[in-house]
Formats: sequence, structure tokens, C-alpha cells
Amino acid sequence: MGTYSLVNGKVINPGYCEVYLSQHCNLACRTCQHLSPIYNIGFFDVGKIVNDLNIVKKYYRPQGLKILGGEPLLYPRICDALKAIRETQFADKIRICTNGVLLHKMPMEFWELFDELEVSVYPGHEPDIEYLKKMAPVLEKRKVMVAVVYYTHFREGYSEIGTKDETLVRKIYDSCHIVHTWKSHAIVNGRFYKCPESYFISTGLDERFSNVSPDGIKISDSLEFGNELLGFLETKEPLETCNACLGTSGKNVAHEQQRNKHLWKEWQKKPTEELIDYEQMERSGEEIKYNKPEALLGNSEIHYLTKYKLFNSFTS
Ligand code: SF4
Repeated sequence: MGTYSLVNGKVINPGYCEVYLSQHCNLACRTCQHLSPIYNIGFFDVGKIVNDLNIVKKYYRPQGLKILGGEPLLYPRICDALKAIRETQFADKIRICTNGVLLHKMPMEFWELFDELEVSVYPGHEPDIEYLKKMAPVLEKRKVMVAVVYYTHFREGYSEIGTKDETLVRKIYDSCHIVHTWKSHAIVNGRFYKCPESYFISTGLDERFSNVSPDGIKISDSLEFGNELLGFLETKEPLETCNACLGTSGKNVAHEQQRNKHLWKEWQKKPTEELIDYEQMERSGEEIKYNKPEALLGNSEIHYLTKYKLFNSFTS
């Protein structure tokens, strides 16, 4: 039996699927695996997102839908975007993933438009927690989960140089919680991705991938797409992007901000071999192989502001 079940002709994902509103961010975190610090201001087309969700929902059902970026709250008509995405009924739950810096500026209508809120807090860029605490009773009534996650460290995300060592690439893939444990899929610009990194890293490394990710499959409204999707998700082979991505096995580094995109990229100009935490890779490989809970949140602390808790883990 495979990892994914098929119910009423739909591939069931016990994890979350992601869509993105902005590619840029108001922060420039050291190891952003969405490579937001290298992008100029740019928004994704909500009409295209809605169109893709309306097609894919005929063949696929995730546990929930995450809305991220970049920083999603930078999207100028955020409430209109959330309403349009909700109307697709793509998933039972919508989770907003944000750094929280702009939360206190959101209109009242915004607070009605999601089911879960995941606020990632980075040193020196704390959101207005008192404001969030004031909103918590309102959210509690709607059974909204609010998780505020404090990070001090991150794992290196990718290498600009990558590796040609196929055994290492296989190990990075086999120990990757993003694809095996969290099953974080992504839908971007008419393509379906097995992990967000296989869109963001490969399109961010233009010289190596010609600005087109080789890893997504084209979304099409046909029964063949449902079959193709299942086969794509069940394949055991590493993705092309795994040659540059570190999955969940990058070395642990202290959080930093770097707004100069060239300097930000400089950090990653080392071969994969120098950026890997080999002990972590072995440990994650074992966790996945023997279905043990992952121990990746050691450098973060979660505070819940309502009584509802996370169903599954975080993105990296
Ligand atoms: S590109 Fe490979 S290593 Fe990176 S998150 Fe995806 S599956 Fe994991």
C-alpha cells in the first residue's frame, strides 16, 4: 500500500497544501527556504490560484490549505483574496502563516476569514502580542487555533553550488520531513509540487534551472491528472531540486536578517557537503523510516493563544 489513499477518486493528503500571495517579505531571514529576500516586490495572481484550486479539488483533498508568501499580509486586498480562496472549498481548514508584524493593521473582516493562525516570531521583529491576546477571545469563539512560534535558530535551507553526489542527494531526500512527514504540497502557477522547496529553490536558482522548476506537474482538468498526481506523489525518487536543497538536514545557524540580496545569497555559496548536519540527517532518516515523531522543533517555542492545538507540524 502506498503513502496516499484514494477516496471517491480523490488523492487524500493527511498534510497541508500551500498557496502563496506574495513572493517578497517585509523581513529577510537568514535561511528562508522560499528565498523571499532575493525577490523584488511581486504578488501571485489570485485568479490563477482560484482556478488551480477549483481544478485540483476534483482530484485531491488535503487536511488543510496554508496561505503564505513571502509575507502574505503584504497582499494589498488580503480580505478579497481570502474570500475568493475560501469560496473554492478546497479544504476544510485555512491556515494563515505569517511573521505577524502586520497583524495589528488588519481590518476586522480579516479575522473572520481563516481557521488557523501560525505566527512565526523572529528576534527583533516581534508582532504586537498584546493586540493578538486581545483578539484571542474572538478567535476562540470561532474555534480558531492560534500558535505563536518563537524561533532563535534555523537550519540551512539550500546550497547555491549543490552536489553531484547521488548517494548524498538520496539521503537528503529520504531524511526530508517536509516531503515524507509533513507532506507539504504546493500549488503555484498551474503546477502541483511535492514540496514548496521544489518550486522556490529551483526558480530562485535561475542559472541552474532556467527559471523553470523541473519538479512540478502541470495541472489539467482530466481523469489522467488524478492518476498522474497519485503516481507523482508515490514515487520514491529524489526530485531534481534535492541536488541543491538540504531538506530538513541543514546545519543549525542562529537567526539573522540580511536585506542585501547578494550578501544573502553569499551565505549559500558553499557545496551541499559543507552545509549538511550529518547527525541530523541520520536521525531524521531513522525517524522517517521507523515512523517516529520528528524532533525538529528544538530551537523553537510554541505558545497557543486559544485552546485549539495544531493538527500537524510546521513547515521547516
Ligand atoms: S526539494 Fe527535496 S530535500 Fe528539498 S524539501 Fe523537497 S523533497 Fe525535501
